[in-house]
Amino acid sequence: MQSLVLERKDELSLRDFPAIDREEEVLGRRDVRIKMHTVGICGSDVHYYTHGRIGPFVVNAPMILGHEASGTVIEVGADVARLRVGDRVCMEPGLPDPNSKATQLGMYNVDPAVRFWATPPVHGILRPTCVHPEAFTFKLPDNVSFAEAAMVEPLAVGVHAATKAKIKPGDNAVVLGAGPIGMVTALSALAAGCARVFVTDLAEKKLQIAATLSPAITPVNVGAQDLVDVVKPATDGWGADVVFEATGSPHAAKTVFEPLAPGGCVVMIGGQPDPILYDAGAAMIREARVENIFRYAHVFPRCVGMLSSGAIDVKPLITRTFEFSDSVQAFDIAASAPVADVKMQIELPQ
Ligand SMILES: [Zn+2]
Repeated sequence: MQSLVLERKDELSLRDFPAIDREEEVLGRRDVRIKMHTVGICGSDVHYYTHGRIGPFVVNAPMILGHEASGTVIEVGADVARLRVGDRVCMEPGLPDPNSKATQLGMYNVDPAVRFWATPPVHGILRPTCVHPEAFTFKLPDNVSFAEAAMVEPLAVGVHAATKAKIKPGDNAVVLGAGPIGMVTALSALAAGCARVFVTDLAEKKLQIAATLSPAITPVNVGAQDLVDVVKPATDGWGADVVFEATGSPHAAKTVFEPLAPGGCVVMIGGQPDPILYDAGAAMIREARVENIFRYAHVFPRCVGMLSSGAIDVKPLITRTFEFSDSVQAFDIAASAPVADVKMQIELPQ
């Protein structure tokens, strides 16, 4: 089937990929076959395209990209109980070993054996159909669009981060970075009960978009303002109860405790491929709690529920949509990191 294939670093093509057809013919008893509708372009997909690797994951053979997806069930395995042909769904892209210790302990996202779409050597889903376990496929209510449903995957990162932070109603939070993950983290923090969320970035356009998401979001351009000078006066000199690090920048991580209140929590979200400096002394004098997250676990149904109820609205984050036939061009635009875009998506022919 026609797939968007990363042949090697800097080379993409839209072409037939016979290996995936053979693999996908096999529908297990508890699997469903899904016709893809919408696939989001993720920073990780773009990074594989422009760098050929992310940390230890190296693209050594042609790989299909894409892992943020929604679609329609077109076939069900013999033992599938919950889903039916015609159901609109979104899919969780990481499959752990069901018998692993991590899975037994409920931390299936940190199972070393996890197989995650578009993480070498596992293929992604920028292709017309895929086969996926029912257990990792979630039915959509009628009022959640395919485009919103393809946002559940990045939203899950924000919801997992807010869950780890143990937010209490009325907390003040800081989100470092107004990229897609920073934006969904700010929305998740508000949905979890934060009174106010300060969102930082250097790009004014991204901060403008963040400010439109909620009156409870305060944008802070850290190129022009010192974050601590904004957060401290707004919190009676106390500081933020939670700081989410969503830039992946060593520079931001270095000062991550500065706006944090005593007893507060820092959640590290942004990927750090190299060792970074981290101010342990600043953490100590605050008795800061530090949480690290790796993707997410157990949150897809919660995300779908919040999109359906209106508790979270991701529609303003979807800034551009491309046709599947324009996928290569879409990735070239995404790789140029246009400042006015948050999430770009690709729609497959139906
Ligand atoms: Zn993603």
